[in-house]
Amino acid sequence: MERLQKVLAQAGVASRRKCEEIITAGQVKVNGVVVTELGTKVDPTRDRIEVNGVPIGAEEKIYIMLNKPIGVVSTASDPQGRKTVVDIVGAKERIYPVGRLDLDTSGLLLMTNDGDLANAMMHPRHEIEKTYRAWVKGVVSGERAKQLASGVELEDGQTAPAKVRIMERGADESLIEVTIHEGRNRQVRRMLEAIGHPVKSLHRMQVAFLKLGRLRYGEMRNLTPLEVERLF
Ligand code: URA
Repeated sequence: MERLQKVLAQAGVASRRKCEEIITAGQVKVNGVVVTELGTKVDPTRDRIEVNGVPIGAEEKIYIMLNKPIGVVSTASDPQGRKTVVDIVGAKERIYPVGRLDLDTSGLLLMTNDGDLANAMMHPRHEIEKTYRAWVKGVVSGERAKQLASGVELEDGQTAPAKVRIMERGADESLIEVTIHEGRNRQVRRMLEAIGHPVKSLHRMQVAFLKLGRLRYGEMRNLTPLEVERLF
C-alpha cells in the first residue's frame, strides 16, 4: 500500500505537492469515493483511482530523446520565462526531463511522463553512465587526464572514478570525453576546472546505451519500445 499523493505523482498526474492540492480539493476518487485525506493508503494495482473522473494509468507513456540546444532551460517551467525543453517538445501531456543539463550545456536529454522511469534513472544506485564531450582551455596532459579519471576533490567531496579520453589537442584547447555516473550540479565543468582546464563548451553524447545519433540541436525522437525496456 502506498500514499495516494505518491501514487498520483508516479502516474505522472502532477508533482507530489500539486497532487496533494488536487486531493484536498476533492478531485480524486478511490473506488468511486472522493478522498480528501492526504496520506490515504491505496494499492495502485487494485484500487480504481480517478482524477476528475479520468482513471490514472490510462495515459499513454511517452519517452523522448531530445538534443537540447544551448540557452534552453531543462526544467518543466521557468520563473524567468525563458524557453524550456518542455516548450521545445510541445507535448500536450505533462512531460518532464529526466535530470538536468545546464543552460549552457547541449545534448542528450530524456523526457518522459513516466515517473517510475525518471525515478529509477535518477537514483544514484543505478549508476547510469553519461558521456560528455567538452572543449576546454589549454592542452590537457596525460597526467591531468589521469588525475581526472581517478577522481578529483570538489567542494562537495571527491568524485568517483571517471572514464576519460582525449580526443583532440589544439594549440591552446583540447577536446576531451568524460564519462561519469554521478550527477552533481555542474559536475563535469567543476571537474575540468579542478584540473586547470575550464570548459568552453559542453555536450552530452550518451546516456546509458542511448546515443544522439543524427539528431541535430532541437531535434527529438521517440524511444523505441525495445530501448524503453532496456532502460528499466
Ligand atoms: N555536468 C555539467 O557540468 N553540466 C551539465 O549540464 C551536465 C553535467
